[in-house]
Amino acid sequence: MISKNIVILGGGIGGIIAANKLRNELPSSVDIIIIERNKMHTLAASYLWLMVNLRKAEKIRTPLSRLIHKGVKIIYEEVKQIDTSGKRIQTEHNEINYDYLIIALGSELEKKHLNNNQYGIHNFYTYEGAQRLRDELAKIQSGEIIIAIDSLPYKCPGAPYEAAMLISGYLTKRERKNKININLYTPEPHPLPVAGPELGKSVSDLLENKGIKFYPAHQLKEIKPEEKTITFNSDLTKQYDLLIVIPKHISPAVIRNSELEDEGGWIPVDRNSLETKLENVYAIGDINSVSIPGRWQPDKPMKLPKAGVFAHSQALTVSEIINSKIFGKEIKNSFCGDGFCMLEAGEDLAGFAYGDFFASPHPDVKMRKLGKAWHLGKVLFEKWWLAPYGFSKSFYKILIQLGAKSLKIPIKL
Ligand SMILES: Cc1cc2nc3c(=O)[nH]c(=O)nc-3n(C[C@H](O)[C@H](O)[C@H](O)COP(=O)(O)OP(=O)(O)OC[C@H]3O[C@@H](n4cnc5c(N)ncnc54)[C@H](O)[C@@H]3O)c2cc1C
Repeated sequence: MISKNIVILGGGIGGIIAANKLRNELPSSVDIIIIERNKMHTLAASYLWLMVNLRKAEKIRTPLSRLIHKGVKIIYEEVKQIDTSGKRIQTEHNEINYDYLIIALGSELEKKHLNNNQYGIHNFYTYEGAQRLRDELAKIQSGEIIIAIDSLPYKCPGAPYEAAMLISGYLTKRERKNKININLYTPEPHPLPVAGPELGKSVSDLLENKGIKFYPAHQLKEIKPEEKTITFNSDLTKQYDLLIVIPKHISPAVIRNSELEDEGGWIPVDRNSLETKLENVYAIGDINSVSIPGRWQPDKPMKLPKAGVFAHSQALTVSEIINSKIFGKEIKNSFCGDGFCMLEAGEDLAGFAYGDFFASPHPDVKMRKLGKAWHLGKVLFEKWWLAPYGFSKSFYKILIQLGAKSLKIPIKL
């Protein structure tokens, strides 16, 4: 009888997918354990809809245990320490040994710009933040909305652009668009440089068509909350009525200063196997750092974007690799760098971007024409993700697979 312990740190997108896949395919003598500090799971992709009042807050949140196979053990605790030499995880009350470790701890947000709501500074990167922003958007009647990306990397490179277009659609519907300017400032040279120039051009065109003012190559320098001004590295200062900041992303404290992190705080992995420098220790999703071809500035090599779609596909790959190792089979699976995104454009429309992020000399991602079908696809995806593990999840999975087949898009769930 095979007896092994697989420990998964983090019960977000990557952790949930890995746990369910491993549990489905491995005998019960293999223990699968998730360590997660939150009992409730929220779908971050839906914060964008929450922000423009297209979702009720309680509809995008569910107990984590409902999303996970009953045969997976969940320990609701904070991971305090990863002891790689002793192959042990330390939480507040437990010590858990592992044979295989999957680190899926995601990223954290720097608090600096998160607690200044009284000065009109908001975000949609947290569950609470998206709700407060929704209330502000309901109130604003005229003036300047500024969306500013603090720094790179940030998760979901399409999200600020989607937010600008969703807000534009929201204001148009309420006949306030002609009294409010939407401005988007980013340090990036064009939208989504991590997805290559072609997609960047498609998104720039979309912004222009909607009258959204776009300012690339603007690095945020300082915000003066009392004066309601934002200054960029070029010393350009702008006044805002509502400021939406994409906060700086940092790696979780348990990884910072651990032997696994690189200089930026993220965990470097082999781009095909997702294995860290330590054997049988894998890092998937936002926590890892995967180099891809291209540079977005001469001194800034490109990294695979932090996105749920990659946390998902990397979880599938790592689960298959661990499965092969446990059964002593040849390892045939590797992460190929393909990714997709349904880019919300407001007014119930979305674009579908798909491509190869490992393509050389730069990622090769193209967007199909805007359409309602892509928006409905994203809605279906949300329903599948939040459905309880079991019959309803399988039902939505079949619907997505049928839709993907008819639209000729290669999606693996
Ligand atoms: C507004 C917004 C829109 C987005 N839209 C999309 C989209 O359309 N498509 C897409 O692909 N991606 C999207 N994303 C990005 C996506 O949500 C993330 O990339 C994805 O969640 C990463 O998955 P992960 O498993 O790496 O980390 P997470 O899903 O963040 O999970 C990490 C888990 O680890 C837990 N954790 C962290 N530290 C500890 C600790 N010390 N102890 C115990 N538990 C811990 C956390 O509580 C969390 O549950 C969006 C994100 C945002 C904010």
